[in-house]
Amino acid sequence: MSDGKWVRLLDVYGDIEDSKAWAHLRVPGIHLVPGDGPETAEEARVLVVGEAPGAVENGAGRPFVGASGRVLDELLGLAGLAREQCFITNVVKYRPPGNATPGLGDAITGRPFLRAEFKIIDPILTICIGAVAHKIIHPFGVAGTEALSKMDQGALTPMRNGSYVTSLYHPAFAMRFPRLQEPLEASWAQLGEEIASTPSLAQALI
Ligand code: URA
Repeated sequence: MSDGKWVRLLDVYGDIEDSKAWAHLRVPGIHLVPGDGPETAEEARVLVVGEAPGAVENGAGRPFVGASGRVLDELLGLAGLAREQCFITNVVKYRPPGNATPGLGDAITGRPFLRAEFKIIDPILTICIGAVAHKIIHPFGVAGTEALSKMDQGALTPMRNGSYVTSLYHPAFAMRFPRLQEPLEASWAQLGEEIASTPSLAQALI
């Protein structure tokens, strides 16, 4: 990623550290987990957005480096993508108490920061990982008309700026409910097919 992008991202993470809205999450032992992308590879063209860091991510200061992250790497592979092509971040940048799913209020607080990350990264594809990211980012989720469970997961929806977005179940959800593993893998494979048949994405990503 270019230095310019990192400098601008660091401003966003500085604003997050100053934000009062997440002050209740900023307790001893809990650290900001900023987004993470390739430093030496070509610029990230894919934005991957999860829910919130877990214990391993809180300790490492990087998103998706624990068990969910290992599964995520495999799922990205099913779509023909590599982590090195992705900028990975979370809706909520601090680990919620008890590792709970972030509440809607905390998720909505994350929206302007995500918007800032989106503008800087300028992705051609955004992948919402789990229902929280779906509700905050995906046009159908934001409108409240389509729950993630009703979505054609892995299907591409055009965004206003010409990029695409898709939503898929969170790997942790499929780890809890093993019967979801197969459909989850099929959705990521479908995403790979959709990328391959969308010229602007195929040219940039494959
Ligand atoms: N789950 C998430 O949603 N994000 C992480 O960074 C780790 C686990």
